[in-house]
Amino acid sequence: MSLANLTSVDTALQHLLESAKPLSETEMVPLGDALGRVLAEDLSAPMDVPQSDNSAVDGYAFRCADPGADRRLPVSGRVAAGDNPPPLQAGTAARIFTGAPIPEGADTVIMQENTTLDDGHVSFESTPPPGQNIRRRGQDLQKGTVALSSGTRLRPQELGLIASLGCDRVPVWRRLRVAILTTGDELVEPGHSLTPGQIYNTNRYTLQGLLQQLDCKVVACQTVPDRHEATVTALKEAAASADLIITSGGVSVGEEDHLRAALEEIGELSLWRLAIKPGKPLAFGQISGTPVLGLPGNPAAVLVTTLVIAAPFIRRCQGNTGLPPKPAQLPAGFTLDKASIRREFVRARRELHNGQIVAIAYPNQSSGMLSSACWADGLAVIPENTTVKPGDMVSFYAFSDLTGA
Ligand code: AMP
Ligand code: MG
Repeated sequence: MSLANLTSVDTALQHLLESAKPLSETEMVPLGDALGRVLAEDLSAPMDVPQSDNSAVDGYAFRCADPGADRRLPVSGRVAAGDNPPPLQAGTAARIFTGAPIPEGADTVIMQENTTLDDGHVSFESTPPPGQNIRRRGQDLQKGTVALSSGTRLRPQELGLIASLGCDRVPVWRRLRVAILTTGDELVEPGHSLTPGQIYNTNRYTLQGLLQQLDCKVVACQTVPDRHEATVTALKEAAASADLIITSGGVSVGEEDHLRAALEEIGELSLWRLAIKPGKPLAFGQISGTPVLGLPGNPAAVLVTTLVIAAPFIRRCQGNTGLPPKPAQLPAGFTLDKASIRREFVRARRELHNGQIVAIAYPNQSSGMLSSACWADGLAVIPENTTVKPGDMVSFYAFSDLTGA
């Protein structure tokens, strides 16, 4: 195997991202259903948040210039969150609670812990500076400013921010519709019994889960027998209903691998052997404008190539303008003494050793093994032509960072 035959991960990703066509259709969704969706418009604040100056603490509101040398004021009123208080009487303090509007005339709040109350008067040892413990009107968001930009993927905190603006529906790009085609005569769905030579279809479920985490809508799941005609038919059908087709298996050079020929017959194949480990046989192409990602069949390779290759493509198609995930740099807690011309994504997990977080590799990195990925919490990246010894720094991507889930 020579490097000349293989496409580097970076070249493949660049090609994929350049060919990704972001969705053009948007929809309004209820705020409660918008988690993970991508905002399709800038969201401007229709009002100041908060709408009025309010207290950051439980305490007493007063005008900073009022307390005399004795720092003692009569308490003339009580303001709780939700009240619309009258102006503060000059020379007095108002009992106030967190989130309550500051009454007109008051400019300072002292924490109740720093006061004593006796005979209807509040006393304190030192007068706080003016403005203390007041959350200013508009300090979170100012009316008319962009609160969230188009292209933002909505996390729980963005949902809360949108709610704080009073919006109950949000404009988002519609979900990417993905069809999953798992190829292989040996595949049987879980729940049925196996005859000799058969295996259960694991990739379908790994892919469904990953696509859910990537906020896609899985519109079809089909198992395709290892036959040219069946592969052609399944691809054509999927292309008619989906924005993206993801296949597993049948993409190598064996006689039972029909994906490449089928794709070349009814569409276009733009690359197909990647310098990635696991996952070398990987195809990318299109049928009548619908992109097709042909992933390998081995279950761990499906996981890795979906996270590393498919996920950035999907994010781009979904209009997500967020930055790609950033890896942590961790000392390796493993040895890799056989350098590969392919970039290697090692199933690894973070462990605390002698007070330091290190990346530990699962001992068996076979691309057929999913137990390795269940043991792991991410992928350590070993650059091309590189060996690793314990203590060398490696890039580590948590699975959750790669999916955004
Ligand atoms: P292939 O690329 O089709 O030759 O598949 C490579 C390996 O992955 C073979 O051992 C297949 O049996 C296995 N494989 C392919 N598809 C699946 C699947 N959906 N679930 C589990 N294993 C699979
Ligand atoms: Mg196969």
